[in-house]
Amino acid sequence: MPFPSSSQAFASSKCGYADVTRNWLYEDDLKMRYRTAFNGNGYGVHPSVTSFTMHAEIHDRAGRVIRDLRTLGRDYPPDENEWQYRWTGVAGAKVCKPGYHRYGAAIDFTKFVWGPDQWVDMAVHGKDSRRRLRRRYLAVIATCRKHFGTVLHCHNDPDGSHWNHIHVDRGRQAVALDWDYGTDVTIIQWAARDLAGFSEMAIDGDFGPQTREGFALLRDEFDTDVDPTDRSVDGRAWMDLIARHAMADENAGKYKMD
Ligand SMILES: [Zn+2]
Repeated sequence: MPFPSSSQAFASSKCGYADVTRNWLYEDDLKMRYRTAFNGNGYGVHPSVTSFTMHAEIHDRAGRVIRDLRTLGRDYPPDENEWQYRWTGVAGAKVCKPGYHRYGAAIDFTKFVWGPDQWVDMAVHGKDSRRRLRRRYLAVIATCRKHFGTVLHCHNDPDGSHWNHIHVDRGRQAVALDWDYGTDVTIIQWAARDLAGFSEMAIDGDFGPQTREGFALLRDEFDTDVDPTDRSVDGRAWMDLIARHAMADENAGKYKMD
């Protein structure tokens, strides 16, 4: 369903719309856990399974993110073993504050866990010095963008709060990519840098000459004429291809577009 415009969403902190309360995403055994603190290494601490309240559509879409991350772990793991998805760290969903959280149309992700040494933490790995971990974070944001139009993260952070979580919302539907949106440009920039070796790429959301060059490089490496700004299905195909390479810790060109 279409949610109200951004100006309406930010005009009030009053909660609205019906909601559901769940402690799982996609399947009953894939639980959510609340992040209560950070440990000495800056990683989120998630002591227990927790229920969150949100709009039914957001529960469904967030479930599709988890479904896709589960598939990526099985089919495109970063090592020779299949990764089995376990649980998701969350900082909040329906919250009576200005923005899409007040409709339950947003959720804040903090951690995705496949196994004991198989996870990605949103407070650390987006700017990690280790490319394999930045790639895993990229796999997550590309997967989020398949199902949500707005994805805020450590390199797309208009209010300075997203260094420690990924915010997704349905204020914008999962439409075709649009180079006027930081959500869409930053993912392409990140993929050009960490999948296609464009090491000097700035991840700033600005679709200027450098980003044009990076996008052309990615298109060549991916060997595709599909335009992600054409139709929503084309945007999703790009996000899916980026996510597969990023999850598997492979350079662009290893896999083909479906
Ligand atoms: Zn949020």
